[in-house]
Amino acid sequence: MLIPVVRAEAFYLPPPTQPADSWALVPPAERVFRWVELRQQRRLQPPDGFIIGHTIYARINQGRWVADCPCGSAQVVTPTDPRIACTECGAGWFRLIFPEDPAAAEAEVADDLPHERNWWHPEDTSWDRPPPPKEPEPEGMELANALASAVLSGAPRESLASLVEEVTR
Ligand SMILES: [Zn+2]
Repeated sequence: MLIPVVRAEAFYLPPPTQPADSWALVPPAERVFRWVELRQQRRLQPPDGFIIGHTIYARINQGRWVADCPCGSAQVVTPTDPRIACTECGAGWFRLIFPEDPAAAEAEVADDLPHERNWWHPEDTSWDRPPPPKEPEPEGMELANALASAVLSGAPRESLASLVEEVTR
């Protein structure tokens, strides 16, 4: 069974005391403001302007689309309204970069365990991105490297000879 990746419109929902569609007219990227308002019991207005020349990558983190504000605060976001405004620091709107085909990225992780449902944009250098797996060196290269470092460190002739023998075998 495919488990859908959670988007903002499925995450920031009105409280159970209100009709389920009561936020339907609020743009998906702005629903977080309603949601935080309810929790903090204070008025919160989304900012007006866009911050030009600064974009933020969206990624899938444990089965949710998220993005980080430069201040470090994270938020659930959605490809249907690709922008983010932080409810913490009050910065303006940032344009979000989603993959060209968000559904394909969602399908890619759908069969993974919940905590492994992670996806990053190819150009995203996010702090939580694991380093790419190291290519194993071919055996011949390892020996050649060992020989090179033995030569450079002034190893005795006999040990060089045996290394050369191995490399050329
Ligand atoms: Zn912020």
